[in-house]
Amino acid sequence: MNEMMLAGILHGAKDMHVEKCAVPALRAGMVRLRVRRVGVCGSDMHYFEHGYCAAFVPTRPFILGHELTADVEAVAADVQTIPVGARVTVNPARACGFCDYCKAGRGNLCRQTIMLGSASTVPPTDGAFAEFVTVRADQCHILPPQMEDGLGAMMEPFAVALHAVKRAGLVSGRKVLVTGGGPIGLLVLITARALGATPLALSDTVAGRRQTALKLGADLAWDPATKNLAEQSRELTGDGFDIVFEASGAPPALRQAFNLIRPGGTIVQIGTLGTEDVPLPANQVMAREIQFIGSFRYGNVFDEAIRLVSSGRVNLEPLISQVFPLEEVRQAMQRAFAKDEVIKVQIEINGRSQ
Ligand SMILES: [Zn+2]
Ligand SMILES: [Zn+2]
Repeated sequence: MNEMMLAGILHGAKDMHVEKCAVPALRAGMVRLRVRRVGVCGSDMHYFEHGYCAAFVPTRPFILGHELTADVEAVAADVQTIPVGARVTVNPARACGFCDYCKAGRGNLCRQTIMLGSASTVPPTDGAFAEFVTVRADQCHILPPQMEDGLGAMMEPFAVALHAVKRAGLVSGRKVLVTGGGPIGLLVLITARALGATPLALSDTVAGRRQTALKLGADLAWDPATKNLAEQSRELTGDGFDIVFEASGAPPALRQAFNLIRPGGTIVQIGTLGTEDVPLPANQVMAREIQFIGSFRYGNVFDEAIRLVSSGRVNLEPLISQVFPLEEVRQAMQRAFAKDEVIKVQIEINGRSQ
């Protein structure tokens, strides 16, 4: 007989309930985790709102969630690298480990990646809005005992930001603009600041997010629709920004980045720009030698991310806005849409049904 657990299962747009379902089976190479805390990501919100996320359309109801802190509850017989009882965070992107991307250390580009809590595979892969979840042993990263569960569940979005900043190269002393003050944009801001970027600006259309950016150490936070933006930018930077991190996914923000970047500067695309093509001033890439590069998920930055946070170099606590119990997963999802009031919403899972 299968053991049962509680999970928040998505059936379609805005159709998510906490239900009993089978505890996932432990297969070779895998560990079973008892989830303690899980964050609500922008992609979870897309699935919740529309029932799908861009090109990923689930073929059956499934469990969302991929930003987690959990305890290792059981390990498969062949797993020797991680002990039962360890408290871990998880790299939710399970790359194959064998292809040339994986072997070159670029597992985030692996075409066989299986993503936790995602419909990028058929059938979809169940995630961590649940009491238990299974992952491959090497997806786990042990958390230091003093790090709170909430921060452990921030390591995945922080890893996105850290990877993006590393893609840009050296940021110390560089003039940096972040477009988009959602959780990832704010994480990029915090990371760039910790690594020495100055001056540092952030743009967002939402006033609450601009205020948060200033509290988190931005020198300037502006509304991208401001008329004298080019002037403000020149006052702050002289000839323009060295690096723009585009974290909004809004085509006008990317277009504006080309006006605000200095010749020879780097634009890093982190935001998801949807499935439509976006026109760009491509000639500027040539005539001003602008580098336009992408940043996708994360490389092997999880242990570095954990060190930066546990050492106190990076403080992510102000980003955790509100925590709901699993029973209120629907309310948690709905709350995450209040963009000028909350940054990161998390779900606490305490195994009360056990
Ligand atoms: Zn995420
Ligand atoms: Zn691979």
